[in-house]
Amino acid sequence: MNQRAVATVNLAAIRHNLAQVRRYAPNSCVMGAVKADAYGHGAVPVARTLEAAGIDALAVACMQEAQQLREAHIRAPIALLEGILSAEEATLAAYEGLQIVVNDFWQIELLERMPQGATLQVWFKLDSGMHRLGFPLSAVPKLRQVLQRNRSWRFCGWMTHLARADEPEVSATVEQIEAFDITLAGIAGARSIANSAGLLAWQQARRDWVRPGLMLYGASPLPGKTGRALGLRPALTLTSRLIAIREYPAGSAIGYGASYRCPETMKIGVAAVGYADGIPRSLASGAPVQVAGRPATIAGRVSMDMITLDLRAAPQARIGDEVVLWGEHAPAEIVAEHAGTLAYELFCGLTNRVQFEYV
Ligand code: PLP
Repeated sequence: MNQRAVATVNLAAIRHNLAQVRRYAPNSCVMGAVKADAYGHGAVPVARTLEAAGIDALAVACMQEAQQLREAHIRAPIALLEGILSAEEATLAAYEGLQIVVNDFWQIELLERMPQGATLQVWFKLDSGMHRLGFPLSAVPKLRQVLQRNRSWRFCGWMTHLARADEPEVSATVEQIEAFDITLAGIAGARSIANSAGLLAWQQARRDWVRPGLMLYGASPLPGKTGRALGLRPALTLTSRLIAIREYPAGSAIGYGASYRCPETMKIGVAAVGYADGIPRSLASGAPVQVAGRPATIAGRVSMDMITLDLRAAPQARIGDEVVLWGEHAPAEIVAEHAGTLAYELFCGLTNRVQFEYV
């Protein structure tokens, strides 16, 4: 029992999920989002797995993340979703053969000041309604002029990002797609619209390139649906161990703030994992976990290093038993709901105190 919190990442599940992406979008190239340390799963092992499985490109947020992959000898095309932030980064992007997702004219100015002969690969990111990054749609004529005067650049295509693709009943996604299409009608260049929710829920968003992140890790971005229901396999299972079991009489207060009172005489288990490992402190009493394969629930506040558990449904539990926080048979999406957040945040929140194992 020398490992207290362990994240086991099943790389076969990631391969399976990539195959599922290809099933959903058979005519699209796949750019897999491995930013934020592959959503907390480990950028290098995940990128190696995706590269070996023939992914068409990878996407990271920033230069630091791209360099980490190049240093690990990942040779697949890599797109920088935030573009470049300085002339130095523009030079590095050319040197490392990175695709720059250009989102503003100040970035174009930096690129146009690069020495002649540097091979630059650029996407243009258009703001079709998300209103975060991207050129306004009205900038497209100017962007075409940019391409005409920089013929040495390799143009990767036009990209946009959906703001509400996880809400199949609202019209915002259709409006974004239509605005993007109308603006680019008759204009050459590949198109990329869909993240995971876009490619799962909106067939018309599956264009030359799709850009899944979350679904590669086996979680669902769609409310009310788990990854499993979408044919995905959760890749990361977070486990801990029971380090104490005590019986308390009815009315006993458990943990900080006495937020949980035992409704009857009952066993409370203590698992060695807490918010310093990435368990959200907002995870409320009643959130599901598994103890030795039996259901149990969180009882009381999450502390820095420990959580306390209602063991009434797992009466056989013993010290040392495995506690599953989320993973293969315990969807992170559902745990996230209890914490008022999303699986994205659970994944990215794991800290370096968690031991990672790859199987
Ligand atoms: N494309 C862009 C531009 C993104 O910012 C992201 C993630 O935020 C993705 C694709 C992948 O999104 P998801 O993980 O929802 O599939």
